[in-house]
Amino acid sequence: MALRAIRTGLMAALMALALPCAMAAPDFQSLLERADRVRSSDHNQFAALLKQLETDKQRATAAQRDHLELLVAYRNVIRGNPQATLKQASELFKRAEDPAIRFRAGLLVANTAAVTRDFPLGVQYLERALAMQYSVPDAETRLMGHGVAAIFYNQSGQYALGLHHAERAQAQASSPRSRCLNSQVRIEALLNLGRAVDDAYVEAAIKECARQKEPIAVGLIQRDLALHWAAQGRVDDARRLLERALPAVEATQYTRLIGEVRALLAEYGLVQGDLVAAEAHARYVHGLAGQGGEHSLPLVRAHRVLYEIAKRRGDLATALIEHEHYAAADKARLDEIKAREYAIQLGRHQIASNTESLAQRNRLLQLRDDVARKEAWNARLAIALLLVVVASLAAWLWRARRIHQALRRLTETDSLTGLSNRRHFRAAVEAALAQRAQRGGAVSLLALDMDHFKRINDQLGHGIGDRVLREVARVGQQHCRDGDLFGRIGGEEFALALMDCDPDSALHIAKALRRAVAEIDARALGCALPVTVSIGCSATSLSGYNYEILATHADAAMYRAKSGGRNRVAMYQPLQQQPDTVPAVAGDDATTLQHAV
Ligand code: GH3
Ligand code: MG
Ligand code: MG
Repeated sequence: MALRAIRTGLMAALMALALPCAMAAPDFQSLLERADRVRSSDHNQFAALLKQLETDKQRATAAQRDHLELLVAYRNVIRGNPQATLKQASELFKRAEDPAIRFRAGLLVANTAAVTRDFPLGVQYLERALAMQYSVPDAETRLMGHGVAAIFYNQSGQYALGLHHAERAQAQASSPRSRCLNSQVRIEALLNLGRAVDDAYVEAAIKECARQKEPIAVGLIQRDLALHWAAQGRVDDARRLLERALPAVEATQYTRLIGEVRALLAEYGLVQGDLVAAEAHARYVHGLAGQGGEHSLPLVRAHRVLYEIAKRRGDLATALIEHEHYAAADKARLDEIKAREYAIQLGRHQIASNTESLAQRNRLLQLRDDVARKEAWNARLAIALLLVVVASLAAWLWRARRIHQALRRLTETDSLTGLSNRRHFRAAVEAALAQRAQRGGAVSLLALDMDHFKRINDQLGHGIGDRVLREVARVGQQHCRDGDLFGRIGGEEFALALMDCDPDSALHIAKALRRAVAEIDARALGCALPVTVSIGCSATSLSGYNYEILATHADAAMYRAKSGGRNRVAMYQPLQQQPDTVPAVAGDDATTLQHAV
């Protein structure tokens, strides 16, 4: 009977413990889940499945072995070995990695501790399990925390706590079965706290539990309703209710509930003068003593009824004995209640101080986390600042470079034509000459001077003169090959350095250029006067690699072209100082002569 009491006592709390578990060998996993589902409804199948699972244990993952261990712990309390359960479940609570398994193991310790009436132990595990409920991913499993807590606190006489948890559990309850179990504990807590409970609510809960085939829950609610009615003076209703309920209650084999119902029936029988029935019920309860309820309220009630009956019958000797039993049982019960309350408060206090130190540790960790975050933020800020500095520096350098380049261009370029100015032209040609002087290669230099340009300015104005200069610059650029350098080296004087170019080729280019200038559509530029140029040509093969000499020779040839009639090309001749021996104008064509002024 004690075994049944334990088994049935646990049933309400454990039935809803369901858990999805880690993935692994599918057969083992599905067996585990099946065993978990039937553990409270079909003890035989549960035992058979556990046996099979234990045989196949080597196939299981660590998480599955823990799950199996939890079911084995559960089986032990059913088999009447709560001590083994306490040991297994508390160890599992310490070591299991899966939070759901740990959570359930903690709740199982709390339940089992309530059975062995070790409430301090129970409250510790219960509160620790509740503290970790939010790490349990499965909502159904999580929900069990408040359900178990409500039952535990009601069993330990802490009805305010019982009510608190029952209401939290009820707020979350999703299945009709958990709704039934939660209303039972809620009603129990409310009535024991002396709070008003609506009859319709109680009746609805009884119906719900009957539909869910939960006879223990039905019996417990009926017991509480009877107590409530009796307190209102409705002893007749209360007695009728319990008499109707008794067969189903007995069928549950839940000793504690049977004892309570019969003790109340004894009391109500006595009130109504049905001494025979009252005595029968009281003696039945007395017979249950030694099966886990020495100091229980039913036993106190039974002794009081037996004492009253003996007194009414005038059997004073028996009355005296029963009164002694009654007084002793009542004192023992009150002592137990006090001790239990003290133990619970002590347990809760320990939990509270543990929780506080946990909270402090948590705050410390949070602080550390904050500091680390701030440090990381500062480091990021420093990097960002550095990047900004580097970027500004780069931008500044880039701008400085651009300004420098612009300035350089400005100092190197002639603003009217965009060509190299005299200084830059000379520097660039000197560099090219030096290079070719070293590795070999010819350079030819053309000196260009506009013919009678003063006239254009004087007769047509400087504006037109400027336009003519720009057009000549454009035409000249068209005659530059890659690497050649073209510059404006004076007012109406240009120079073209032809790289890797022998005198013949240079002469050829010079003639083409002269022709192109002469063919400029001067009228389109607003210039009524002819636009022509005289070109003198020198080359390194004749003059060497010195710029000064090369330029002087080109100029000399150019002046010879001028003196030869302008609009023509002259090649520098080393012996040009002897006009009798060297022709002043070299190889020009007919067009040149036509335009010559
Ligand atoms: P020649 O055929 O003998 O070279 O005659 P020329 O008139 O071209 O020679 P001269 O050296 O007497 O005149 C050059 C003229 O070029 C003088 C000046 O007015 C003009 N000149 C110089 N620079 C510029 C300029 O930037 N713009 C304009 N429009 N004219 C300029
Ligand atoms: Mg000139
Ligand atoms: Mg001129």
